[in-house]
Parts: sequence; structure tokens; C-alpha cells
Amino acid sequence: MLLFDSHCHFDFEAFDNDRESLWHACNKRGVRYLIIPGVAPEQWQKADDVARAYNNIYIGVGLHPWWVEKMLAPENIENYLADIKTKLSANISLEKCVAVGECGLDAFIETPMQLQQQVLDVHLQLAQEIAMPLIIHCRKGHNELFVQLSKYNLPAGGVIHAFSGSYELAARYWSMGFRLGIGGTITYERANKTREAVKKLPLESLLLETDAPDMPLQGRQGQRNTPESISDIAHTLAELRYESLEKIATQTTLNSKTLFKIKH
Ligand SMILES: [Zn+2]
Repeated sequence: MLLFDSHCHFDFEAFDNDRESLWHACNKRGVRYLIIPGVAPEQWQKADDVARAYNNIYIGVGLHPWWVEKMLAPENIENYLADIKTKLSANISLEKCVAVGECGLDAFIETPMQLQQQVLDVHLQLAQEIAMPLIIHCRKGHNELFVQLSKYNLPAGGVIHAFSGSYELAARYWSMGFRLGIGGTITYERANKTREAVKKLPLESLLLETDAPDMPLQGRQGQRNTPESISDIAHTLAELRYESLEKIATQTTLNSKTLFKIKH
């Protein structure tokens, strides 16, 4: 069985002490591919170093909404955006880079939505220019996100990571060329809407992800999450859809490989 973790912060400190043995354990459980999303320019290099140290680990480069204000000199937004765009463009030539992101909108944080939208625009422009898939983070800003996405022609599409929401919401993204990143949320019984959505969506629209070290599965709250739990997420998805684990693993791995244009 081959599994693909399409969103794991494997470069974070939480994995510094046991990254090697953990990746080995993942491989044993079939988790053979992993994407490390970008969160801020300072972190891209380490992400790339980690990716180059292992087979089948790739990266995205982007500025996550949670890092926007930490990075920003407020008097200097325009320069900052130009600078980020240059940095993004320069780094995209990295051998292990397969995506732009993560980037997006988060209505739960204090960073003004308008600033988040400006930063997202830079990423969308770039994804359009170089035809790379996007990794999108969105909490509660779906209407704003639809408006922004529809301004661009995004030939490589992308993934709405950590998707939670209704079938209708998911279907709308899928119709726009975006896949849905499905993670630990579906292991929680209270996540009714999302569980119903993943039962009905075409399997071709779904990617598996852990968002490790965050987003522990049901029953493991307070513990570090790891990419090993992709096999548990696959298991839950198989149960919900009354499909075999093998079918879920094969198709979702193929979906990630197709989206991120990974050939082997
Ligand atoms: Zn993330």
C-alpha cells in the first residue's frame, strides 16, 4: 500500500529529534510521499534541506496567514509584497519545490482581512504565471476566497488544505479545479458535515493529509501528530465510503501525484 501525506510540517522543531527514524517508520506503514508546505521565507531553506535529505519529500513556498504580521513592516506594505514576490519567484526554481503555498485567508486571526487578501494575491499571481498548484489555507473566509480565486486563471489548480465544511462547499471548489485536503477532522464524530461531504465527493477530488505536528486524531488530543497517522485517516475514509483501504490509498496517492506533478 502506498500513501501520500499532502500536508505535513515535517521541517518543524517538533521533528528535529527523530525525523530520520520517523520517516523510516512511515515508509514501513506505506507512507512514502510527503509535502512540506511553506509558512514563511525564513523557513523555506530548512524545508528544502529536509526534502533533499529524503526520497519523495517535496516542498511548497509561501507565506501562511498566521505569519503575515510577524513578517511585516506595516509602513512598507508595497515593498514587502514586491520583495515576497521576488523571493517566491527565486525560490520556486528549487529542485524540490512543487507548489505555491501555503497561503490563504483566516478570519479567526487579528491580521486585517485586506492585508491577508493582498498577500494572497501575490501568491495567486505567481501560481498563474508559472502554472504551479496552490496549497490554500482557509478558515471562515470562503466567500472572500471564491471572489479572489475567480480573478485568476489557475491552470494547475490546487488543494484546499484541512478541508472542513459541507458537500456543497467542497463541490464548488472541485468544480473550480481545487481538490480537498482531508485530515484528522474526519475521525471526530462531531464533524458530521465534513464526514457526510467526504462520503459523497468523487474520490478523485480528495487528498489525504495530517497537518502534523498539529491536528491529532480523535483519541490522541494533546499528543504530537505525525505523518504515520495518514494510514489511520485512510482507514476512516475507507469506512465512511464503504470502499477498500487499498482503493482509497491508491486513488488518493494518484491524486496527489497528479496535482503536484510527481512522476515516480
Ligand atoms: Zn499547515
